[in-house]
Amino acid sequence: MRNTIDIWPNPRCEKIGHSVKEFLCNLNGPTWIDIPGQDNNRTRVLTTLLHGNEPSGTKALFNWLANPGRKAPLTNLSCLICSVEAALLEPEFSHRYLPDTPDMNRCFRPPYDSTNGKLAEEILHRIRDLTPEAVIDMHNTSGAGPDFAVTTSLNTNYVNLAKNFSHRLILTELHLGALMEADLGCPIITLECGGSSDFQADQKALSALEWLTTGENLFRKNGAPQPDIYKHPLRFEIRDNVSICYADHPVADSNITLYPDIEKYNFGITPENICLGWVGPKGLGYFSAIDDCGHDIKGDLFYVKQDKLYTSQPLRLFMVTPRPEIAKKDCLFYLVRANTP
Ligand SMILES: [Zn+2]
Repeated sequence: MRNTIDIWPNPRCEKIGHSVKEFLCNLNGPTWIDIPGQDNNRTRVLTTLLHGNEPSGTKALFNWLANPGRKAPLTNLSCLICSVEAALLEPEFSHRYLPDTPDMNRCFRPPYDSTNGKLAEEILHRIRDLTPEAVIDMHNTSGAGPDFAVTTSLNTNYVNLAKNFSHRLILTELHLGALMEADLGCPIITLECGGSSDFQADQKALSALEWLTTGENLFRKNGAPQPDIYKHPLRFEIRDNVSICYADHPVADSNITLYPDIEKYNFGITPENICLGWVGPKGLGYFSAIDDCGHDIKGDLFYVKQDKLYTSQPLRLFMVTPRPEIAKKDCLFYLVRANTP
């Protein structure tokens, strides 16, 4: 297989650049940065910038690498900075992926036939070759909101790993082709640091990197308390060719109009009978919410009355985005029922 990912071993701090943008401009596309550890028999992997509009992980890495007083990490650390080109496409950090290419974090499963698919396959090979003890994949949410971790397993090592980084843990068995779904031979969690323009998200990424480079045992039982676990979220999606916008009043030529401050529902409990916005004559027909058995249960979760969309039971919404292009290409938000443990 052709190697397309550069490897930059142990860069000196003066080579990193004076800004995050300069740092990215110093990379020729997707790059592994390998830092030798004090204990070089152990390796940890950090992946970030799978999505070009999610800068917190890259900012944290820039700050850490540019620090002349930086100590060697406890273990070897291999950091992948992935969608450099998408991130640098003006305006910077606004493109989740390059136009006309698939979402990078939907490509980590066969067939690896697109350019991003081949890149995904190469990333998987490298991670497996490194035999790390853990992988952390750092992201930002597109709407504002708190940090949370996502896992595909509630095995003790996954939960103990995740709780170092966030006290909210989402268990998903959705098969989307995300990196964390791949078998890497070690626990992997996704860390959603918070909104891409939230200062707290940058702080979260920094503290996560700090822990990754200094924590002796990532799987310790004690330490952080058990996280709140949210199981099996559903994706609330809209069908193709449905138009959506965000406004304080129904927009005439849009099938769906949601309130522009809908991100405020991120993670709190959204009670029943809360109006989220307006819908056209097809009502719930614009949406889908598929459960683990493949059934569309949107009718249990939402109802439409006088062209308004309401919750029909208490829900926890997350990854709520006010950005129509994300809502269309990915989903409006994820949700779990607030009443089921
Ligand atoms: Zn992401």
